[in-house]
Amino acid sequence: MRKFAIIGFGCAGYNGAKSLREHAPNVVIDVFDPSRRSPFNPMLSTYHAAGKLPYDAVFPFGSLEEICRALDLNYFSENVLEVTADRTIRTESDLYRNYDGILLATGADAMVPGSLRCSGNRWFTMRTLDDALALRQHLDTNQVRSAAVVGGSMVGIKVAELLHSEGVNVTIVDAASHLFPLAAYESTARFIQRQLENKGLGFRFDAKVTAIDEDGIAFADGSALQADLVCLCIGTRAGTRSFRNSSVQIGHAVVVNSHMETSVPGIYAAGDCCEGINLQTGKTAVIGLWANAAMQGACAGANMAGDHADCPGNILHNITRFFDMDFISLGDITLPGCKHLFDCPEFFVSLVMDGNTLQSVNVVGNYRVSGILKHHLVKQLTGGASTTFTPAQRGLLERNGLPREFIQLIGGSPNDRA
Ligand SMILES: Cc1cc2nc3c(=O)[nH]c(=O)nc-3n(C[C@H](O)[C@H](O)[C@H](O)COP(=O)(O)OP(=O)(O)OC[C@H]3O[C@@H](n4cnc5c(N)ncnc54)[C@H](O)[C@@H]3O)c2cc1C
Repeated sequence: MRKFAIIGFGCAGYNGAKSLREHAPNVVIDVFDPSRRSPFNPMLSTYHAAGKLPYDAVFPFGSLEEICRALDLNYFSENVLEVTADRTIRTESDLYRNYDGILLATGADAMVPGSLRCSGNRWFTMRTLDDALALRQHLDTNQVRSAAVVGGSMVGIKVAELLHSEGVNVTIVDAASHLFPLAAYESTARFIQRQLENKGLGFRFDAKVTAIDEDGIAFADGSALQADLVCLCIGTRAGTRSFRNSSVQIGHAVVVNSHMETSVPGIYAAGDCCEGINLQTGKTAVIGLWANAAMQGACAGANMAGDHADCPGNILHNITRFFDMDFISLGDITLPGCKHLFDCPEFFVSLVMDGNTLQSVNVVGNYRVSGILKHHLVKQLTGGASTTFTPAQRGLLERNGLPREFIQLIGGSPNDRA
């Protein structure tokens, strides 16, 4: 009987196992993950830490026992320390096993640069469920009046929201010149910043943090910010340590092709530990998003079973809700083109067009329009069908309050757009 290993049991590992089982009912599937927990949804962990969601709600696929029973998985609660090119793994307990196929799905770790001096026990990261639980416990057992959140992107803004909802005075600090530096144009970022300032948040940009201690943070220019608590949310590093001897190609993360296979036949990767194809640039890039991890895991699982599934790639996209605002960013904001801006009652929209081609768009408003806009950009890139909106799509965008000029600009018929 063929044997497969899934290394890491988050969103990518779960969807890989599920797809593998659906496509190959009779194979052995061993799952390795030290957490002893069912796969959890990291974007819900801050809601749990804020007391808005019960503990069970962060596990969208059910309990570990239920999943293992339903998918007939053998679960090993330990880290895999090494994977070699002949598809052998070595675990913490010195278990050696050889497999017909392996899925690397180890996610990513919170980034803590070696150059940053961190001391004391009032600083946190926000990546794992344990991180969220540790922050909750600290808030429950200490009086926290002020906090600095280092990193003004998707995770930092969620942590800022959580702390603000507890009555904490929050300052967001970033080395970049504005919020969401990888996803927002400066105009969008300033718009969001103004809304957050109205709610009482403080900001400090172009600020390089050199040290975190019991008093708060110190900056490269010699200044300091006092804070009872610091949360470091400056990005992630793909979890590739165990694969260094496997011969799989590793750039910023494990490099995969459109079948989610690495450079070593039979070894696949999915989720935040891998670089899939960025449809806009044609190059590989980490697109660290929940839906992307699910799609990649499902594709890898089918191919491991011997099917021919394709994951042609993805675009950079970010759909986040915070402080009663939805922020949608689609596409690579560094691509050149002509900038347009629409500031209307329901939405703040800015976008970059290259001729009739949408390069990237920022929308602050409601998330309900995000599916159509993302689908439109992907369709435009994959070039299959017409890139004008259907009447139903136009109707939905208009009903949600998006300006007609914007809809016309990105998805009207080419004659209308000229
Ligand atoms: C606070 C927060 C907010 C987010 N918000 C959003 C959002 O709004 N929208 C969105 O789309 N995405 C969001 N994300 C990102 C999204 O959650 C991730 O892209 C997705 O969960 C990645 O899934 P994964 O399976 O690749 O990795 P993970 O969920 O990190 O799973 C990796 C698993 O691998 C295990 N592992 C690691 N190393 C080993 C090893 N050597 N051996 C065995 N097991 C190992 C770990 O224990 C872990 O269980 C957010 C993330 C965070 C942290």
